[in-house]
This record gives sequence, structure tokens and C-alpha cells, in this order.
Amino acid sequence: MLDFARTGAAVGGTPATLEKTRLLAAYFRTLSDDDLRRAAVFMTGQAFGPSRRSTLGLGWASLSKAISEISGRDDDELQSIFRKHSDLGDWAGEALEGRTQNEDVSLEEVEKTLEEIRTARGAAKKAVPLEKLLRRLHAEGVRFFVKVISREMRIGLSVGLVEAAIAEAFGVPVTQVKRVHLITGDIAETAVRIKHGQVETSNVTLFRPVRFMLASPVETAKEAFQRMAAEKVWTEEKYDGVRCQLHHADGRVELFSRDLKETTGAFPELAEGAPRIGHAVLFDGEVLAHREGRVLRFFELQRRLGRKKVTDDLRSEVPVVLVIFDLLYLDGRSLLDEPLEERRRLLEGLGLEHPFLLARLEEATSPDDLDRIFADTRERGHEGLMAKDPKTPYTPGRRGLAWLKLKRPLATLDVVVTAVEWGHGKRKGVLSDYTFAVKDTASGRLVNVGKAYTGLTDAEIAEMTKRFLETTIEDRGWARVVRPEVVLEVAFDSIQHSGRHASGYALRFPRIVRIRDDKPAQEIDTLQRVTELYERYFGTRTQEKLTEVAET
Ligand code: AMP
Repeated sequence: MLDFARTGAAVGGTPATLEKTRLLAAYFRTLSDDDLRRAAVFMTGQAFGPSRRSTLGLGWASLSKAISEISGRDDDELQSIFRKHSDLGDWAGEALEGRTQNEDVSLEEVEKTLEEIRTARGAAKKAVPLEKLLRRLHAEGVRFFVKVISREMRIGLSVGLVEAAIAEAFGVPVTQVKRVHLITGDIAETAVRIKHGQVETSNVTLFRPVRFMLASPVETAKEAFQRMAAEKVWTEEKYDGVRCQLHHADGRVELFSRDLKETTGAFPELAEGAPRIGHAVLFDGEVLAHREGRVLRFFELQRRLGRKKVTDDLRSEVPVVLVIFDLLYLDGRSLLDEPLEERRRLLEGLGLEHPFLLARLEEATSPDDLDRIFADTRERGHEGLMAKDPKTPYTPGRRGLAWLKLKRPLATLDVVVTAVEWGHGKRKGVLSDYTFAVKDTASGRLVNVGKAYTGLTDAEIAEMTKRFLETTIEDRGWARVVRPEVVLEVAFDSIQHSGRHASGYALRFPRIVRIRDDKPAQEIDTLQRVTELYERYFGTRTQEKLTEVAET
């Protein structure tokens, strides 16, 4: 861990990307296969590779308690160290400097501890392996271990640079490293394959997850046509569920999530239904909650997420379907390089049945066409539309122009800021995250409906920071409750039910359009308006319309 931490510190200490790559490559070259796997994953700020469920389930409170116990420092001291860094790793490193045993713990032991933390049940049990390891590590090791568990390295190391370092370490062109990484979606597997010169073995293999193809955002239908440079585009609804890859052959089924974790246990209806497909397939699609012919809202689907096992009750309350929009493998044949039209033709030929549905497909030959389809899809309750070029191959992991997502703000609301938080990274030292509220006219209270981080310039944030420091009612360290005076106009794409906010709703993807100094807080939008918008776009009436779509 000491070499790992020292390399990390050296990488963080230089702004030059070539130097970062060189340092990391030199380190990678010294490692055994197993340590290379571990180091590659940790360097990208992750505790686990994609095949394992990655949540440690370790909260800030547990970490903070461990640091406080080992260091013997009081809260004030710890808070002031934190303020200095605004980074959990750097904070923990400084807090424990000279207060640990300074052992050089192996990466294998670090991995073992992470696994122990992951599998321990409850905060108290998780704290045991955490504390044990922290006590043994060198302060620099603490710094980097905490960076890994908080999943933020903050040493100016992008995944691209880790790929470049693997290329440099083993004398392979970076394009080949990227290709292997795109297909495997696993930096550890990539590093080891490259080390052993296995660059050509990288095509679709069933039961090895493939990175998902991604879409680039566009604002208008015209822009979609221009960027795609196609005469006709295909459209599909932008379903609001969770992305899912289904692998099936001879009765064996595995599902993977967007971050390539295995999620088979979470969706037994899909695992049980897949053998009836009668072919070896790899599907790309979206899991939706779907009951009695209706698609349920994302809010309900959330109850099914992050579970290894599902009870019968939950299964009957919130059953799921897979809406499929792509086929990457069929009976021994990898289809990545086939055009979308061919992949879709083969997909339609499979004669799929419930719980497998096909994405609704339409064709647009002009921006007007696309606008019309967009308006229809909005009325059906979707947040947007996907536009795809039917002539293009499936490019794993790529956010190119072959798939575009057309989203527009659903509406804007004038809201008031009720609490603010200190930012991270580039926004260290400024109050940049704003929780905001609307007015509940029934009770006269302000009720929170979301939190916005984007949309203001650095100058505006600096100005806001001054204002919020003056209007703080309660200082909670990392957050401050402020007098509800600053009115913002926020745009957002969708609304969902939420237990997190007192309003019962959360705006999704809110961004600040402008600061409305012209508007007093008494005149902000109301909870009743949020409810109206929710009912119009996402209420029961809309849900019924979704039926036709999903059953297409
Ligand atoms: P975003 O999360 O905004 O980047 O949008 C991309 C996501 O939209 C994908 O990862 C999918 O989970 C989801 N999605 C919904 N419908 C589709 C579709 N028809 N084609 C591709 N992706 C879709």
C-alpha cells in the first residue's frame, strides 16, 4: 500500500499528464498480475472491479467515528483539518499522521479488508475491519485508502490516463488498451490482458459484460439531424428505468447493470423468463416496473433496486419487464459490427413475449417529424427521446453521435434556497450546492424539492458564498441552513416522488437558470404547482398511455 500511496501522491503532485502517465506506468510494471488488477481498480478511485457489487455500505459517520477514535482528536480539531482540505482522504491522512503503526500493508490485505467491510452487516460490524486497517497503515496509506473508499482520488488521474499508463507500461498502443477496456468494461481485466499481449481476444463473450453504448445530448431536433448527418433517424422513447444487459444461453442467465455489476438476483422474472427465448442472446435494454399492463413510475422501481434477493410480496407488488432496444449477440454470432437496422431485424425475428418487450420505434425524416414525435412522447410521460442512426454499429462504452438523446426541460420553477453546502474539487472553499424549496400554500411552510449544483458562473458562486455566509442560521460544518431569501429559477427534466424531501417530490436533474433578485421569496412557486406538473406528465392518466407503448 505504501508504494501505491507514494505513486498516487507523486501523480497528484505533478500537473503534467505525461509525467503522471510515466510514474504510473513505472509502478504498474513492478506488480504481479494480482496486484496489477488491484492497483488498476484502486487508481481509478474504486474499491471493487465491476463484477462485484461495489457498495461498501460505509457511511461518513462510521469513517468519522473511526478517525476520531484512532486520532484522539476532538470534533473541532477534526473539522478544522477537514476545512483545510475539503477532501476525505487528505483529511484522514493528516488527522492520523503519527498516530498509526506505519506498517506497509499489502494490496491483497487491503482488498481483503474492503471485502470484510462490504460483507459485514451494520455500521458497528463494518467499523471493526475498517479501524483495524486504519490503525496499521502509514499516514500516506490512510490518505489513499480513504480516497479509495470514498471513491474520489482527486489526484488528476482520469480513466484515460490509467489506460495510457497501462499502454506505456507494456508497450502497447493506447488505442488497443482502450478497445479492450471498452469491451471488457473492466480496467483490471484490461491491464492483465494487455500485460500478456491478449489484444485480439476481445470480442463479445457471453456472460462477460460488455460496456454499454451511450448517447450524446442534443437540445433541438434540428441539431439532432445536423449532428447525425443522416437522412432518416430512428426514434425510441427514452425510458426512465434502469439499464440492463441480459445474457442467456442454454438456460443460463446473467444480468448486468449500467456499471457492469451483476444484478441477476434482483430481477427473477427476467432470469426465469429468459430460457423461453430459445436462443443464445445478449440484449441491451431498460428494466421498467410494470403491473397489469401499465408502466409504473421510477419511484416504484426504486424499491426493487440494489437487492440481491426479492421477496414474493415485493415481486407481485412491483413486477418488472425488460424493454429491449438492442441485440449484441445471437446464437454464436457477435453483432457489434452489424448496423442497428440489422440488429433490430434479428431482434424482431425472435418473437419475444412478456416480460420481454421491444422498444417503440418510429422513423423521422425531418426535424419537424422529430419535434412531433418528441411532443407525443412527452405526453406519454417520458422525459425525452432517443434518436439513433440505423446504419451504425454498436460501439461499447462510447458516447458518440450515433445515438443522441433529446431532452428539454420539462418546466422551470422559481424556488428559494434553504440550505447550502461546501463544494469539492474546483469548488473547494465556496458554497456551491443549494437545497431549494417551494411554498406549500396549505400550511404556509417552505418544503424542499431538490438540490442544484450547476448553472452558476464562478463569479456568481463567489457572490452567493458571501451572501450565504451572512444569512446562515445554523452552521453544520459541511452544510449551512440559511435564511430563505435567495430566489432561483431552476429548470428540470422530470419529477419523482421522494421520501427525502418534505414536499414528497424531487425535481430530477435540476440546474440553475438564473438568480432572481427581482423576485421576493413570498412569490416563489408552490407545492400545488409541482403537484400539477407531476399529475400532468407522470400521473395515472399518463401511466395508462404508456401501456400501448410498452406492449408495442
Ligand atoms: P442519460 O442517463 O441521460 O445519459 O441517458 C442515457 C440512458 O437512457 C441510458 O443509459 C439508458 O439507461 C436510458 N435509455 C432509456 N431509453 C433508452 C433507449 N431507447 N435507448 C438507449 N438508452 C435508453
